Amino acid sequence: MQHEQHIVAIGAHPDDIEYGCLGTLIKFSWQYVIDLVIFTDGELGGPRRRAESTQAFESVGLNSIFWLGLADGYFTVDAGTVGKLEPLLQKATTILTMSACDTHQDHRAVWQTTMAAARRRAVTLLSYQSISSTPDFNARLFVDITREYPRKLQALQCHETQAEKEYMKESWLAEWHKHPQAMTTGQTCVEAFNVHQAYFL
Ligand SMILES: [Zn+2]
Repeated sequence: MQHEQHIVAIGAHPDDIEYGCLGTLIKFSWQYVIDLVIFTDGELGGPRRRAESTQAFESVGLNSIFWLGLADGYFTVDAGTVGKLEPLLQKATTILTMSACDTHQDHRAVWQTTMAAARRRAVTLLSYQSISSTPDFNARLFVDITREYPRKLQALQCHETQAEKEYMKESWLAEWHKHPQAMTTGQTCVEAFNVHQAYFL
């Protein structure tokens, strides 16, 4: 039986997925069905963030987005939150989510919610690095996104309300996509993931 490969990428706010793993999603969008789940509209950053994110994803041909409408900065991990995510993971063969090793409470909550919603599932579960990952973040899997990088940059530029942030600057971004371990094999533009569980089905 043909097993359809299906990625679900999960973020707390508009721009989390774009920053952490959009190059990977672009790279695999030819082979995988891709859904995006975003917990909040990022309203603490203003009213335009959801529209900016939608535009960013559409610019690279991704338009299956599920907005959970939870409170930016304030949502909690409970049966209600897990229950919102669980049905959206039913078809996933690979989940890209946020990491527990992160200074932002919403990012850690996304990790905890994902873990609970994906329990007892034969699914590959990876967490992507974010701008607020701590030094404990364990980069174990690298995806070379050299070819996808220009499109990722363009998509990030859709986040006009964030444009002044230091980490949105091109020079900063170029450095952020370099990892010492990946550079030893000649890869100078990668997205980094921690591997929590992996299945080949
Ligand atoms: Zn975030």
